[in-house]
Amino acid sequence: MEKTGKRFFGAHVSASGGVENAPLNAAAIGATAFALFTKNQRQWFAPALTEKSIAAFRDNCAKYGFQPNHIMPHDSYLINLGHPDDEALARSRNSFIEEMHRCEQLGLDRLNFHPGSHLKGCSEEECLQRVADSINYALERTQGVTAVIENTAGQGTNVGYRFEHLAYIIERVEDKSRVGYCIDTCHAFAAGYDLRTAEACEKTFAELDAIISLDYLRGMHLNDAMRPLGSRIDRHEVLGGGEIGKECFAWIARNPRFSDMPLVLETINEELWPEEITYLIQNSRFKIDKH
Ligand SMILES: [Zn+2]
Ligand SMILES: [Zn+2]
Repeated sequence: MEKTGKRFFGAHVSASGGVENAPLNAAAIGATAFALFTKNQRQWFAPALTEKSIAAFRDNCAKYGFQPNHIMPHDSYLINLGHPDDEALARSRNSFIEEMHRCEQLGLDRLNFHPGSHLKGCSEEECLQRVADSINYALERTQGVTAVIENTAGQGTNVGYRFEHLAYIIERVEDKSRVGYCIDTCHAFAAGYDLRTAEACEKTFAELDAIISLDYLRGMHLNDAMRPLGSRIDRHEVLGGGEIGKECFAWIARNPRFSDMPLVLETINEELWPEEITYLIQNSRFKIDKH
């Protein structure tokens, strides 16, 4: 993929009425990147994508200049690749592979997912091992799509709230060219990583880079957090409306390390998305002091 050195911003837009509507919805809010579900995220079964829908998706992306590295498909919330029960795990794996196939059909190169939950049925470490095995299983059966693991807030029995958890999984994935991670700022903050000032961001991302190289970063979710640092509660807020504050997002926007990947909002007021995207684009034009 061409390296432009530019940042690409958008939001997790609706694909209702067909995946081909997602790039249109993104363009309408001034986005240069977007995230989407390629099927209903709350159901196991989805009808196959039609040839017509696939062609329209590709045409609409081309029309508005969205390239695969500006687009972050997100998998279904039902999938748990670390499930302690073998039968349930098999179901999740099959569903995940189906989602990877949908990405292949759409010409997309990455699939974002939450690593999984141990549901008190096994240890955290065993759960992380299961996630890694699931990724290996899926990568063997698909082509060209990178598995992008998202950090979590650590709510309930979710794993993936420590950067070390993501590193543990990635270390155990055989094809390193097709695994990466996505950092959600709200989740990181809820998990105890401070992002409230530029200095705190420098420190948190330096720690991340030391634990898992930023070379594996494939996108970010830009969300403020409703709850305080270390709350372990996953509640998104509008940029500047929560406990993190705007400085973090200005810092990310102007940082060339986050170029050429989807930087997408999952903030809670869709009506503010055009304004939030404008804010990010404006800040991306400032030069960063360091790096
Ligand atoms: Zn997220
Ligand atoms: Zn979240």
